[in-house]
Amino acid sequence: METVYIGLGSNLSGSMDDPQQQLQNALAEISDHPKIHQLNSSCFYRTSPVGPQNQPEFINAVAQVKTSLTPLALLDYLQQIENEHGRERKEHWGARTLDLDILIFGQQSIHNTRLIIPHPRIEERAFVLVPLLELKPNFSSANGKSTADLLAKCSDQGIVKL
Ligand code: AMP
Repeated sequence: METVYIGLGSNLSGSMDDPQQQLQNALAEISDHPKIHQLNSSCFYRTSPVGPQNQPEFINAVAQVKTSLTPLALLDYLQQIENEHGRERKEHWGARTLDLDILIFGQQSIHNTRLIIPHPRIEERAFVLVPLLELKPNFSSANGKSTADLLAKCSDQGIVKL
């Protein structure tokens, strides 16, 4: 059984669902899998888009689970959940509004065509780092930077705990 951290994000625009409800549904769907156990979620955060600012805000969270799935089997399952959410929204608005990323998978380091683990976005995105640190306060950067340094580097990224 590996301890795994999953990043969740929902774009506020283009969805008839309340984005917080959408994340709640995704958490329930993740923990529905018979090989996924002990799901803990961080708080939810409202975050500013990174990059072009003419995008809507996001709701983000991180989940911690224990699983006996392989990394690729977990990715398949998360993509199935994304697609199900996407299909619902696509009928109304044509945009995918749920993003699920595997951030950390035990101690594993993976680099193939479908998976990069640890996820390369962890250290540069407040919307990943802040909720991750709630669940994994001992997170240590791959390049040896302190948590304080990482947080300082992304301190200009708007993030509000809900
Ligand atoms: P996106 O939905 O835009 O975040 O990107 C999805 C793509 O990223 C998929 O094709 C995945 O195969 C790939 N990917 C690479 N590493 C990861 C990861 N750690 N977690 C989730 N998707 C990943």
